[in-house]
Amino acid sequence: MVSYKELGLVNTRDMFAKAIKGGYAIPAFNFNNMEQLQAIIKASAETKSPVILQVSKGARNYANQTLLRYMAEGAVEYAKELGWEKPQIVLHLDHGDSFELCKSCVDMGFSSVMIDGSHLPYEENVALTKKVVEYAHQFDVTVEGELGVLAGVEDEVSAEHHTYTDPEEVVDFATRTGCDSLAISIGTSHGAYKFTPEQCTIDSKTGRMVPPPLAFDVLKAVEAKLPGFPIVLHGSSSVPQDEVETINKFGGALKAAIGIPEEWLREAAKSAVCKINIDSDSRLAMTAAIRQTFAEKPAEFDPRKYLGPARDNMEKLYKHKIINVLGSDGKAL
Ligand SMILES: [Zn+2]
Repeated sequence: MVSYKELGLVNTRDMFAKAIKGGYAIPAFNFNNMEQLQAIIKASAETKSPVILQVSKGARNYANQTLLRYMAEGAVEYAKELGWEKPQIVLHLDHGDSFELCKSCVDMGFSSVMIDGSHLPYEENVALTKKVVEYAHQFDVTVEGELGVLAGVEDEVSAEHHTYTDPEEVVDFATRTGCDSLAISIGTSHGAYKFTPEQCTIDSKTGRMVPPPLAFDVLKAVEAKLPGFPIVLHGSSSVPQDEVETINKFGGALKAAIGIPEEWLREAAKSAVCKINIDSDSRLAMTAAIRQTFAEKPAEFDPRKYLGPARDNMEKLYKHKIINVLGSDGKAL
């Protein structure tokens, strides 16, 4: 049993409370490797932004949970070296799918876990989330639950399909489970292909595709039912078109990848939304820089020479998100 407190990590409780009051959101960036982690920590330390390091099931399979835990511990020390005296770094399990997985993360030093029972019948979701909360809270580890089903990469995002969170359920769910934050579904979705071109309209000024609007009415209804309760948005990458264009220019084949416009996320960050998950955008930033280096310097074979630019490009992206989208800069002095 390792306590996250010994590792210098923090849970989400205080940072969420401050974020709601201050009208900004905390970035939750997924990480799978060292370059990504370095970029996240450098961007957070230089902007003094609280940050949530997210580990998904895929990341655990790819990089090993134990190694990722030690990397997060190293990240705290690295942040201090960069001059961030009191780093506010959360190590969070993204989309935990069982009690056993959540317990294993709590036991090995995670400061926050998500239990995603959103695919289960309502009562089963309540029971599973409550069980995780009861365990995690013994160790002051915070828990994120989820209500409402987020569309996946190939699913259709459509109000007719009733994928949105039901505001009527949120009070009951939060009260009975005791969860610390709640991921809701208001039309964001996972992956780089969030919408089909048919679902979008064309912006006459820029010629770019604009996805169907987020259900801000659902968010407002949830806020009204649970004032001050921390709300989480998953699937909130914006799929920067310049990165997509770079990837395609240098041999990639991404077709009509469409994300959530940043101005919509800025608006959400001012509400009870206090955690915004961003994963695909950093994948795009990394891939764009690597493809460009490979194309322009075909004789290069030192991984540092293409992972270095990839790291720089991700850092730039993370800083942009922190300063221009979430507004979390300067909030962890
Ligand atoms: Zn998610």
